[in-house]
Amino acid sequence: MRVKECFCPSSQEQALALLAELGDALQICAGGTDLLVMLRKGKTEAPFLMDISGLDLSGIREEEDHISIGALATLTDVQESPLLNKEPYRFLQRAAGWVGSPQIRNAATLAGNLCTGIPSADTSTPLLALDARVRLASVRRTREIPLTGFFLAPRKTALEADEMVTEVLLPRFPSGDYRTEFRKVGTRKELFISIFHIASLLEMEGPLVKRARFAMGVMAPVPVRLFRTEELLTGKSLTPALIDEALETMKTEVHPRTSRHASKEYRMMLAENLLHRFLTEPPEGAEGGNLC
Ligand SMILES: Cc1cc2nc3c(=O)[nH]c(=O)nc-3n(C[C@H](O)[C@H](O)[C@H](O)COP(=O)(O)OP(=O)(O)OC[C@H]3O[C@@H](n4cnc5c(N)ncnc54)[C@H](O)[C@@H]3O)c2cc1C
Repeated sequence: MRVKECFCPSSQEQALALLAELGDALQICAGGTDLLVMLRKGKTEAPFLMDISGLDLSGIREEEDHISIGALATLTDVQESPLLNKEPYRFLQRAAGWVGSPQIRNAATLAGNLCTGIPSADTSTPLLALDARVRLASVRRTREIPLTGFFLAPRKTALEADEMVTEVLLPRFPSGDYRTEFRKVGTRKELFISIFHIASLLEMEGPLVKRARFAMGVMAPVPVRLFRTEELLTGKSLTPALIDEALETMKTEVHPRTSRHASKEYRMMLAENLLHRFLTEPPEGAEGGNLC
């Protein structure tokens, strides 16, 4: 189906009114790096498009109890934000830096990455580990939901037909000894879609794990948080026996499948090896990146 009309609202009110009127027939276009490919391949249909680039939704700001990332903040904005260039946020910058190429990151938005609803969306795992929330707006209401409740199935999110994401919210964390890691794995070195990605946030208090947050992508139909593994580790010392138990627990929380890119056995091996590495080796710093 051909696109009949493209709207370019200049205010959020106009955008929400269009969504209320046209609902499912209207597709939001932010950076367009995913949507335009999907349209060209005929994998999505939208008689109407709404280019939201004219809305006042860019910027990354520090608020009283959270950091707000506007729906038009690009992945380059995330990579370059001084507010995120500190722990425990640096793994989000690292993940943003591994999406596509510089040209893609200059156009692609963080919110758009989440709204694709695909398990390989690289920023989903650090955002899950950070307990991020998304703010959704419609003419009916504004609501906030945790990211854990946002992903429903591949390419299906909790967004209703008349809603749009206006902000991604990150909680502020108390000062502490944080270690964060992000790794993605693909079939080549640059410009690749993840066949697996993992984000890990550990807050240590001496030898004890004070806080543990893990998330994995492409290990289930949607990106997953490893709540049981986190609970097992919290408040304990990272002994070899506990780490072995954590790896066994992790395996009960993920359900990888075999695709044309990788087998489920290979994905599980990556999950085990990388989680083990994050629990036993010091953080790799800003360069820690991809494997292929
Ligand atoms: C060459 C290439 C390489 C890529 N590499 C990667 C990669 O390595 N890792 C990765 O994760 N992705 C990758 N992508 C996919 C894509 O670039 C990202 O997912 C990007 O972050 C999408 O953001 P966008 O602003 O371009 O979204 P758009 O394409 O504008 O939109 C994507 C979807 O989200 C919806 N949407 C966007 N914004 C909102 C909003 N505010 N409210 C509600 N719905 C909204 C749109 O309607 C659409 O359904 C790649 C794409 C290309 C073309």
